[in-house]
Amino acid sequence: MILSSSLIGVKAGTGKRVETSIMLSKILKRQICADCRCCCSFKKDNVSLFPVFSEDKVPADYFDGRFDADDTAKEVACPFLDRKNGCSLDEQEKPFECRIWPLHVMQKGNDRVITLSPSCPVFHGEVTEALKTFLIDDRMGNYIFCHADMHPEIVKDYIEGYQIIMNG
Ligand code: SF4
Ligand code: SF4
Repeated sequence: MILSSSLIGVKAGTGKRVETSIMLSKILKRQICADCRCCCSFKKDNVSLFPVFSEDKVPADYFDGRFDADDTAKEVACPFLDRKNGCSLDEQEKPFECRIWPLHVMQKGNDRVITLSPSCPVFHGEVTEALKTFLIDDRMGNYIFCHADMHPEIVKDYIEGYQIIMNG
């Protein structure tokens, strides 16, 4: 079942600013992500998911020449990933995309959608009741779409295999 933001019945963006990572931490403990770090390394075929940083923090050509044409499994880590301690940024410094993982905002044709990463070991691609509550009852789906409207640079092109869980 694909959720719809219209189910919420509240116009996106009318609520107060909500701290998504705090809300999401109710269903995904930060320590799990700190240990996993799966979202902080990128392969050639999903490097488009690298979060948006200002040019002075991460230059646009950061990944140029870092992948191996013969090794599609090669992963390149975010420059802020400390191998020992995880992300070296404070929570408030992290890009929005990092604060909603394993969710992504993607554009599929004319549709703007929220997708679930297929590789997250917590959800295994399953839309749990807790995730539905987060998106619908807590109105975070609307908030995420609203943020994407204001910051379209965070919207990624749809990648096959990412489960669409909510339509905008
Ligand atoms: S900013 Fe932090 S959380 Fe985001 S990809 Fe980089 S290391 Fe991971
Ligand atoms: S794959 Fe899941 S558990 Fe791992 S860092 Fe990403 S959101 Fe966290």
